[in-house]
Amino acid sequence: MIFLLIGPPGSGKGTQGRILSEKMHLPYFSSGDFLRELIGKNEPISRQIKLIMDRGELIPDTLIKELFLLKIKNLIVTYGGIIIDGYPRTIEQAKDLESVFLSLNYSNRNIYVIELTVEKNELHKRLKERVFCPSCLRVFQNDDNICNICGTQLNRRTDDTMQVIKERLRQYELKSRPLHQYYSNRNLLLTIPGEGSIQDIASIIDKAIKENKVDIN
Ligand code: AMP
Repeated sequence: MIFLLIGPPGSGKGTQGRILSEKMHLPYFSSGDFLRELIGKNEPISRQIKLIMDRGELIPDTLIKELFLLKIKNLIVTYGGIIIDGYPRTIEQAKDLESVFLSLNYSNRNIYVIELTVEKNELHKRLKERVFCPSCLRVFQNDDNICNICGTQLNRRTDDTMQVIKERLRQYELKSRPLHQYYSNRNLLLTIPGEGSIQDIASIIDKAIKENKVDIN
């Protein structure tokens, strides 16, 4: 089973993706975490990626294809499915990913695109207040100092500043919003309201998946 989480920055894709990953016993792949890890490795490409991410822009599709596709394909083959957060983010990326699904003979019955929707003011508020755990990579709100999962000191992301948040939301509207129509046309889209408690949203996702007849424990 393949689950793609789409939606604007701050809509809760990471939080819900991790919950879904545990429930479905499938690996969780976050495009942003993958890129941040690459930056940390100080490879030749790291500096270029950091500059783009710090501006709030998207990494070019050709580079994303090179970095992600084989990795994702291997995870799907090894674990029989995957939960992907933050990829695809453009129609071009969606087409690249579709070619992987086709090559692995996945039918639409086994692919779910979960779109989380959150009102713009709420997105700004969440992004301005969020902190993350540099060790287990989970996200929390500002009033937390220490990760309640692994006890590590929490940090702020360098791209969670007012100016960069604005640009990231602008990029979302420009390049990622068309994915709604793309996946809706393919009957793959489950649009879920992303406001409310984490558990309530997870339950709504469960219900939507079950109504589409996926086995979930
Ligand atoms: P995220 O952690 O998902 O908010 O992503 C952080 C940043 O990583 C984005 O603002 C982009 O610069 C970059 N990024 C993540 N995923 C993608 C993607 N699929 N395509 C292009 N850039 C991406």
